[in-house]
Amino acid sequence: MFNGSAFHSSHQTTLAGSVTCSGIGLHSGKTVQLTLHPADADTGIQFVRLDVAEDKSVVRAYYLNVSDTMLGTTITNEYGVSVSTVEHLMAALWGAGIDNAIATLDGAEVPIMDGSSEPFVFLIECAGVKTLSAHRDTLEVLKKVSVQEGESIATIRPFDGFALNIAIEYPGTAIPRQQAQYDFSTQSFKHALSRARTFGFAADVEKLQARGLARGGSLDNAIVIGDKQVLNEGGLRFGDEFVRHKALDCVGDYFLSSLRIRGAVSTTRPGHGINNKLLRALFADRSAWRLVSNAQVPFVQDRQQQPQAARAQAQL
Ligand SMILES: [Zn+2]
Repeated sequence: MFNGSAFHSSHQTTLAGSVTCSGIGLHSGKTVQLTLHPADADTGIQFVRLDVAEDKSVVRAYYLNVSDTMLGTTITNEYGVSVSTVEHLMAALWGAGIDNAIATLDGAEVPIMDGSSEPFVFLIECAGVKTLSAHRDTLEVLKKVSVQEGESIATIRPFDGFALNIAIEYPGTAIPRQQAQYDFSTQSFKHALSRARTFGFAADVEKLQARGLARGGSLDNAIVIGDKQVLNEGGLRFGDEFVRHKALDCVGDYFLSSLRIRGAVSTTRPGHGINNKLLRALFADRSAWRLVSNAQVPFVQDRQQQPQAARAQAQL
């Protein structure tokens, strides 16, 4: 069953069966078929391109494979084979507590679906979750690490759980400043973030499409913002859908660590570039993290017994 237990599991998980969906790619506008398959312990999340030679087709979902962060997160293997827009699927896998899966696709992009993680969460729920016998390692943050990129800032610090404090700013646009905090020991990814859609400005979409980019982008798979308002007929799914989507992106991008993180992130004006930069800075400082086997440190139970103390330590 899909529930909180897989998310907090002390053992690794995978899917209980295979599930398929198809949709268009944001960049190409072409139809892509995606199938999620179960995988053995310690596989992590791997993408397999069915449209390239088999010996070059595997692209591991790993932060060091991130090759482009302009319109989404693209990962590339040692043969130059890429998979684009992995972040919404990665976020759904993280939220559902899935550690190991093989995602096959017959094109270069994960389908954009409705621009959120909800269709992937649904797909994973259909497959079900299987607990494996191997223990799950957690990446424990031991000290504060910060990165900056232009006006974007991201900081990660020790925290007993995983929390995100996020602020977005788009001065001079119809998007107001939005700020939110999420603590995933008490909030579920599915309910708080999974339905939040990606967004773009109408003027940018036109420019990108004139350059042959974002060909699949439309009101069906993104919130499109005009000069003063949201152009989608149905409006927004949440009053603060923009910041929720940026939080979703952070979750997906951070899962490219291939591990569940025990730490708290504070970020202003996040984007795929700085999300990756934060992971690179964290892993580069060997004194800033350690791997903890959940079998040895049952921190979930500890936190449930002392929720106030844990939150007081967060210093968000
Ligand atoms: Zn996104």
